[in-house]
Amino acid sequence: ISSKLPKHETSIFSVMSKMAFEHDAVNLSQGYPNFETDRQLKELVYNAMLDGYNQYAPLAGITPLREQIADKIESLHGKKYDKNTEITVTNGATQALFLAITAFVNHGDEVIVLKPAYDSYEPAIKLNGGIPVLVQLEGKGYKLNVEEIKQKISPKTRMLIINTPHNPSGNVFSKEEMQQLEALLEGTDIILLSDEVYEHIIFDEAKHYSASAFPNLSKRAIVCASFGKTFHNTGWKMGYCVAPEELMAEIWKVMEVNVFCVHHPTQRAFAEYLKTPQHYLGLRDFYQEKRDKFLHLIKDTAFKAVPSKGTYFQLLDYSEITNEHDVDFSRRLIKEFGVASIPVSVFNKGKEDHRQLRFCFAKTDDTLEKAAEILKKVK
Ligand code: PMP
Ligand code: GLN
Repeated sequence: ISSKLPKHETSIFSVMSKMAFEHDAVNLSQGYPNFETDRQLKELVYNAMLDGYNQYAPLAGITPLREQIADKIESLHGKKYDKNTEITVTNGATQALFLAITAFVNHGDEVIVLKPAYDSYEPAIKLNGGIPVLVQLEGKGYKLNVEEIKQKISPKTRMLIINTPHNPSGNVFSKEEMQQLEALLEGTDIILLSDEVYEHIIFDEAKHYSASAFPNLSKRAIVCASFGKTFHNTGWKMGYCVAPEELMAEIWKVMEVNVFCVHHPTQRAFAEYLKTPQHYLGLRDFYQEKRDKFLHLIKDTAFKAVPSKGTYFQLLDYSEITNEHDVDFSRRLIKEFGVASIPVSVFNKGKEDHRQLRFCFAKTDDTLEKAAEILKKVK
């Protein structure tokens, strides 16, 4: 048969989690918490089921939830999205990203992707006949170079995808960087797809600058978010996207034939749960403690870290330990030592390797301590 994705490889997240399981390794690879979501939230879902919210929801999601999302974004970023026309509740951010790409990318269109990048973007572009145009973020620190993006813009450029806070680097775009992007896109008809799933996980002095906060970005932006990341329930696959009405109208055409709507009782639960802003604003302190704990624990290892500014990932540089390729080293760490991570090269343009591994610290203290004990033995 002719494949639409002939070179597609199984997601590194599935590969590493499977290997971790097979070798009974401490799993800091795939990004998900190993602690529970709030019992109150589970009860809200259960109660919504008992209360009879078990049939189709409206395509864009239930109004009370869209209202909460609109209020949240307005209070955080000062931009008021219309709850009736500019918000859609989706099956996780992955579906939101897929909807946006499918709605706008035509055969032969170019989409600029900043590498390293989350692994769903490029296959989604290709499935729609689009051409990913890759721009590598610079060096070991993955710095944004707007000039380089500018050089890659052509008459065929349909979309630019950004991700802040950034998986896997843990970088957060500054206000100046967002303004540079704003200036770059001004006068073009390029759509901005802004993946902001880690919006509430930011550390130290960092601030999350959403594309929705910049008028010359928000007018062309589809912003994607994930409840799974924010409320410790990645398995529920719930999220949303926001965009100006004329863009959202196109997204709805795809949504209608794709899933029509997403899980109704869970929407009822989130509509209630979001009424308490502390439920998402508290995430920052919660994960700051985890990040600090992880950094403290690995201080006496041969791994080197530049503290993550956002996300629940920490990159560790192992160049003082070995010259092995990161894919080989990450496999050896699982097999010989019993700790699983993600090799960063798989996300890089040309799979270039900076001798860095990504560790997920959304784990219980006990798990982080176990992992650190193992990492201390790696020399
Ligand atoms: N974007 C990024 C950058 C991610 O790391 C993830 C991972 N989970 C997603 C999107 C997908 O989010 P969801 O699980 O809500 O589909
Ligand atoms: N985003 C998660 C990560 O970066 C994984 C999501 C997935 O497994 N598809 O680890």
